[in-house]
Amino acid sequence: MDSVSAKQDQLNAILSSMAEGLIAVDTSRRVIIMNQAAGILLRLSPAEAQGQNLNEILFLQKDGRDLRVEESPYERAMIDKNIITLTLLDKISLKNRHGQIYPVSLMAAPLLLQGEVTGGILLFRDITKERDVDRTKTEFVSLASHQLKTPLSAISWYAEAMLNEEVGGLNEKQKQYLQNLYDSNRRMVGLVNSLLNVSRLELGTFLVEPEPTNVLELAESVLAELAPALIAKKIKLEKVFATDVPVMNLDPKLARMIFQNLLSNAIKYTPAGGQVTLAINLADEFLLIRVGDSGYGIPTNDQKKIFSKLFRADNIREVEAEGTGLGLYIVKSIVEQAGGRVWFDSLESKGTTFYVTLPLSGMVKKTGSRALS
Ligand code: ADP
Repeated sequence: MDSVSAKQDQLNAILSSMAEGLIAVDTSRRVIIMNQAAGILLRLSPAEAQGQNLNEILFLQKDGRDLRVEESPYERAMIDKNIITLTLLDKISLKNRHGQIYPVSLMAAPLLLQGEVTGGILLFRDITKERDVDRTKTEFVSLASHQLKTPLSAISWYAEAMLNEEVGGLNEKQKQYLQNLYDSNRRMVGLVNSLLNVSRLELGTFLVEPEPTNVLELAESVLAELAPALIAKKIKLEKVFATDVPVMNLDPKLARMIFQNLLSNAIKYTPAGGQVTLAINLADEFLLIRVGDSGYGIPTNDQKKIFSKLFRADNIREVEAEGTGLGLYIVKSIVEQAGGRVWFDSLESKGTTFYVTLPLSGMVKKTGSRALS
């Protein structure tokens, strides 16, 4: 056997014994190589796949929503010349032509020849088992949070009754201690509600009920709720609203949570006398929301972790004790479920700007057992 075909056999043996699915495509997305493991998930033999367009044999979903071709990690990898890694946390599923769906982790990379993109490589693995284990943990958090709600409500109710002196007079110290107890309990209720929201988002049990929504009015009503905090910190508010924002089909509760979280963070993380900006306008097929502040900023080292669950940056913990580190995770989950994106720019001690896009086509109705609260 000549050494070229021996090398070829060796390469084929490596590809066919890999547990990961591997597909390589050329620049027009035609399959050059596909291994057996990929064939099992796609229900297509490597020989059949040869020369087919990747976008016709493999479909990706995020959170149950079909990704547009331009959102696909292999498209982004080839266009941006970047390696993209998606894990269990990214909730990506692969759908084959027969409609079978598998949760996957995947890596997409451009195929580079002398610095030129000559195609792309997609490597993926079925993570059904890992997803099931993760689900069990989330169900536990959901159940535990739910069980905590009843005793917390009881504490709140009794503390309130005592504070109102319904069961006898209180001296100043007693009032102050009870007020502290009441405030701490309120924070705990907030944390438990956020944990419940996180588990509903992760389990996919939350409802999406879109209805024609006037985004500018919704933003105004959130600002009105936050007015006391703005006034207390003497923060200057700048509003830049485009006049051509259409009525959009959004779930008002979910849209409100996006504004509420971003604006309350901007206020919370800006020292007194600073400035907060809310801009709403259109960018192509998307609504673009921009929330800027002149506050503490996010340290460069922490920027990668900012959307992770329970993460709070050190510079913030020193100045603001209150917070759960769940707000941005919830915002990102809602926005991505709606087919939008969220990102930010920030400079420590100078300020931060968060950007959110939402498709003008609106949110897609989703039945579920629970609304986010
Ligand atoms: P929380 O505000 O309850 O801590 P979030 O998930 O909303 O939780 O935010 C996570 C972290 O991101 C914050 O603790 C803070 O470190 C950082 N952060 C969010 N928004 C801003 C902002 N506007 N300016 C500076 N840091 C911010």
